[in-house]
Amino acid sequence: MADYDLAIIGGGMNGTSVARDAAGRGLRVILLEQGDLGSGASSASPRLIHGDLAGLERRHVFRVRAALKERDIWLRIAPHLVRPMRFAIPAHAEERPPWQLRSWLLLYDRLASRSRLPRSTTVDVTHHPIGNALKRSFGTAFEYSDCVVDDSRLVVLNAVDAASRGADVCTGARVTRADRGETWRLAMIDRGYRRVTTARSLLNATGAWTASVADTVLRVAAPPLGTVQINQIVVRRLFDCDNVYVLQNSDRRLIFASPYERDFTLIGTIDHAFKGDPAVVATGIRDAAYLCDAANRYFREPIAAIDVVRGVSGANSILEPRHDGDATMSLDFRRGMAPLITLCGGDVTTSRRRAEQVVSELTRFYSMTPRWTATMPLPGGDFAWHRFETEVDIARDRWRFLSEEQARRLVAAYGLNVKDILGDAKQKADLGPAFGPELTGAEVRYLMRREWARFPDDILWRRSKLGLTMPQADREALATFMAAADVS
Ligand SMILES: Cc1cc2nc3c(=O)[nH]c(=O)nc-3n(C[C@H](O)[C@H](O)[C@H](O)COP(=O)(O)OP(=O)(O)OC[C@H]3O[C@@H](n4cnc5c(N)ncnc54)[C@H](O)[C@@H]3O)c2cc1C
Repeated sequence: MADYDLAIIGGGMNGTSVARDAAGRGLRVILLEQGDLGSGASSASPRLIHGDLAGLERRHVFRVRAALKERDIWLRIAPHLVRPMRFAIPAHAEERPPWQLRSWLLLYDRLASRSRLPRSTTVDVTHHPIGNALKRSFGTAFEYSDCVVDDSRLVVLNAVDAASRGADVCTGARVTRADRGETWRLAMIDRGYRRVTTARSLLNATGAWTASVADTVLRVAAPPLGTVQINQIVVRRLFDCDNVYVLQNSDRRLIFASPYERDFTLIGTIDHAFKGDPAVVATGIRDAAYLCDAANRYFREPIAAIDVVRGVSGANSILEPRHDGDATMSLDFRRGMAPLITLCGGDVTTSRRRAEQVVSELTRFYSMTPRWTATMPLPGGDFAWHRFETEVDIARDRWRFLSEEQARRLVAAYGLNVKDILGDAKQKADLGPAFGPELTGAEVRYLMRREWARFPDDILWRRSKLGLTMPQADREALATFMAAADVS
């Protein structure tokens, strides 16, 4: 008998979503990720959980409606990670006429008619906080509701949930060869050791590596895929209000400028064809300049490439010819041969449903329990989304040493599971050594023990964004602490 029902190569949004779904339906699952969870494109997404307003311009009405339905599901199952926001589109004299924006938003409201999020409105920005950061020439903006998400934490919590339902999650495990017979035999290098396992079916969810894994590891014909690079930039905070600005650029692209980790603004996205090693993707000066120019058309405070604190970029496979937002899924099943599924691309908003569809494909091979992921919260997310601030207050009441911002960060990252980190601590010193003003030894140990963190970057950039503010000496102390920590 094979060791597992389903082996998944790739621990990004697609791989972990399938692992969660399949483990919850009773399949024996192993997830193999060569680096850290979310270390590929999944930590470089636009961080939006949205219907995709621009989809209406392309007349993708049904797709927008389906994504809006997913948006509501995410709010229910991940109220800590997914945050409702008001998005603001300033009307620009040289771009789409205001009547067109207004009519899109009316349709958007209608498609989301069951949502509890506030509907769209027209705003006079000369008397509204939205206008404070904008150039004087702007008089009107349109506000509507959508959500932002911490993408890499979503990946990690998918994996945590999968593991709690019996999946084996292995990071630092690179699959080097897969032999196909009635079962799959997978050879890997698992944290330096050679290891072999077997599975009744295999999912290739390796993002930008999909074609090369098909070619060199699975030795099957690679799907017709191209590779694209996505880029965003982080700059010091450009505005005080808690809105996401949607900036219409002169090439008709919509650029998003979002509040990012309290003191910063995330501006993106731009994407273009990519050639090279997907593990080495960096935002180039031209991409940074493009995004700065887009912001400079709107905001009073000018920015230039030199102001970029960090580039956020990733590479992913897309089906050729390109269709916006499309995911590629193919099932290869031959008599006497174990099934092979290939899944790549797609957006974060529809990742849960995509995984559900992929696992449902396997019902013809195995018996399993019904679909479940639309109703069960992710770890720590067992509260209503409109109670987020109440949960922050409860945390501050219980752990009185937490500042409001610290409590908000912890609840946003861990939800109700924050108790597993803070326990009975009465003061910050009870939580072990401090690394910068926010991170404590207790949190580091939790992330190592429960969330597969192995190196400082796993914590500083994927399980949090504390890398933006942590001084170098604290990073070095963190590396020393992690190397010595016994979390077995
Ligand atoms: C150009 C572009 C546009 C995007 N547009 C959107 C958008 O509009 N909306 C949106 O929400 N999101 C968007 N995204 C981001 C979206 O998050 C990604 O499409 C999605 O996260 C991809 O997830 P993935 O799991 O397929 O790939 P990845 O996150 O890249 O995961 C693949 C994983 O496979 C691992 N791997 C590779 N080879 C092996 C091996 N041999 N053994 C073990 N592991 C291996 C890698 O280390 C990697 O972690 C975009 C991304 C890009 C690059």
